[in-house]
Amino acid sequence: MHCPFCADQETKVIDSRLVADGDQVRRRRECLKCGERFTTFETAELVLPRVIKRNGNRQPFDEDKLRSGLNRALEKRPVSLEVVESTINRIKHKLRATGEREVKTRDVGEIVMEELRNLDEVAYVRFASVYRSFQDVKEFREEIERMDKDAKKD
Ligand SMILES: [Zn+2]
Repeated sequence: MHCPFCADQETKVIDSRLVADGDQVRRRRECLKCGERFTTFETAELVLPRVIKRNGNRQPFDEDKLRSGLNRALEKRPVSLEVVESTINRIKHKLRATGEREVKTRDVGEIVMEELRNLDEVAYVRFASVYRSFQDVKEFREEIERMDKDAKKD
């Protein structure tokens, strides 16, 4: 990398260490020409796909929004914050694993529902009812019945 002082191309790393709990590498570099020292930080680029909303607008993935949606669904349920956080990480992992640069809001919702279904059925129904905005009571009842059937299979 070029020296930020004299723009020379020859710099060497004189120190390298992990920072930010190992998520970042901090490097001290020295310019071989002017002798100035500077620091660089390196992090892995783990890009989450952007989200295509129903109206076609694109938005960056919003982790806080996901967290508050999950917390709302899990209100007063016996699920610890730690489990919520690992669920969020799993959801993010699944989103990255799609390999897509853009995903539909709907697809994100499906992943969240899949996770909630394994985690807590009440939370799942809460989330699904808001998310899918069930057209009527009948549709909602069918979903519950489908869940019952799946539960009996286990
Ligand atoms: Zn220099």
